[in-house]
Amino acid sequence: MSEQHKLPHEQIVKIKLNDEQMRENLSNAMHTLQKNRLKLIDEKFNDWQGLRERAKQAKNNALMSLDERLLEFEKNATKNGIQVHWASSDEDACEIIYELMREKNISKILKGKSMASEEIGLNHYLENKGLKAVETDLGELILQLNGETPVHIVVPAIHKNRYEIGEIFKDKLGSELESEPEKLNAIARKHLRDEFEGLKMGLSGVNFAMSEEGAFWLIENEGNGRMCTTASDIHVALCGIEKVMQSFEDAATMVHLLTPSATGQFIPTYNNIITGPRKNGDLDGPKEVHVILFDHHRSDMLAHEDYYEALRCIRCGACMNFCPVYDKIGGHTYQTVYPGPIGEVISPNIFGIDHTGDILNFCSLCGRCSEVCPVKIPLADLIRKLRSNKVGQGKNPPLGANMLHHNAAEAFAFRNFEKIATSGNLWRFSLSKAHYFNWFIKSFKNTLPVVKKWSQFKDLPQIKKNLYKELENIEGVSCE
Ligand code: SF4
Repeated sequence: MSEQHKLPHEQIVKIKLNDEQMRENLSNAMHTLQKNRLKLIDEKFNDWQGLRERAKQAKNNALMSLDERLLEFEKNATKNGIQVHWASSDEDACEIIYELMREKNISKILKGKSMASEEIGLNHYLENKGLKAVETDLGELILQLNGETPVHIVVPAIHKNRYEIGEIFKDKLGSELESEPEKLNAIARKHLRDEFEGLKMGLSGVNFAMSEEGAFWLIENEGNGRMCTTASDIHVALCGIEKVMQSFEDAATMVHLLTPSATGQFIPTYNNIITGPRKNGDLDGPKEVHVILFDHHRSDMLAHEDYYEALRCIRCGACMNFCPVYDKIGGHTYQTVYPGPIGEVISPNIFGIDHTGDILNFCSLCGRCSEVCPVKIPLADLIRKLRSNKVGQGKNPPLGANMLHHNAAEAFAFRNFEKIATSGNLWRFSLSKAHYFNWFIKSFKNTLPVVKKWSQFKDLPQIKKNLYKELENIEGVSCE
């Protein structure tokens, strides 16, 4: 629903590579996030790797018994007074929210940050029905005012600097032109206080749902999530089915990893553990709490021998923060709700591999994402497998792969490379002739169409005439 490509990927990559301001903003932000994470792990955690392993096991256990977990969550949440809804598609989830608004005669919903709502295209859906969804997360608000989508799953407006934000507030909210963070915050706060006035329905995502407790956990840093969930009469929470875990202890393990990985914070500023609607005697809280458990192709991923691993994702964004491609091109280039390494794995699985353009090429397979992922998702391996499926070589293709070669020339080249690289004789022969190939490519790099594109941004290294012999002489290196 929300996957609408405006430009071919090749074209948008060029535009973004030439956007120096965006690249500078992103590069500064990513370096800060990287530094904060590394410093915190170094100073505060004795056994970060052990914690990662525990989290991986807890998530795998929940996924392997997901049918049981979901029913247990429904039973216990219902006992707590939470109304549980099931949605198999993005459209179903939007319709449930629309029906709730229609029944209660509500025309405006205030939203805490929720990537799930981006995934189902909720704002657009409600707008088409003449209803309004207002973003209350500061980053999301900036983007909504400016008509943009998030560039990052944790810090959605990270590509904007404070001067650009000041311009947006001046243009869209009629405020004075400001650039000091405190003043910008004050402008946003005043605007949102007016929106919160008379709030009837608030929407949030869910970080973790706990089946044994029939409750769910929402973390955030701005307090807007708490406003949306407690100051409204009705709270609606959107929860992908993979967010359901067994127990509070398991969820707590995840929270321990999430904020350090995301922003380098030891704990989140706000922990909201929602156990049901307002009870007699409570001073605040919503009168109704609804949770929408939505699938949207997650069960297809769960059934897949490889891609199920991506369902462990806790949406921390660390894989993006460390990706050497993401910080050059930014999240908009992917033209899908989930950018970066995790986006390259889940977007083709959720929206269809034939609807996500060339995003699988936005990866150098360096493996940094797999190293930093707190729940040990082998992202680089999964991207490689998806590439293989896309060109019709893999088994068990994801949704939408038609097993036809996306690009016949590419498929031909890689099939032949595979033959050469897996045969000792052919490999030795190729290495002994590699310098001719090198000369040929370098000589025609400005004229051959495919080579011309490639050499615009990088040059081929010089391959020595006797490379093969040199390699054979290095201890431990075999050309067999
Ligand atoms: S894949 Fe791993 S690193 Fe990336 S967002 Fe998900 S949990 Fe974080």
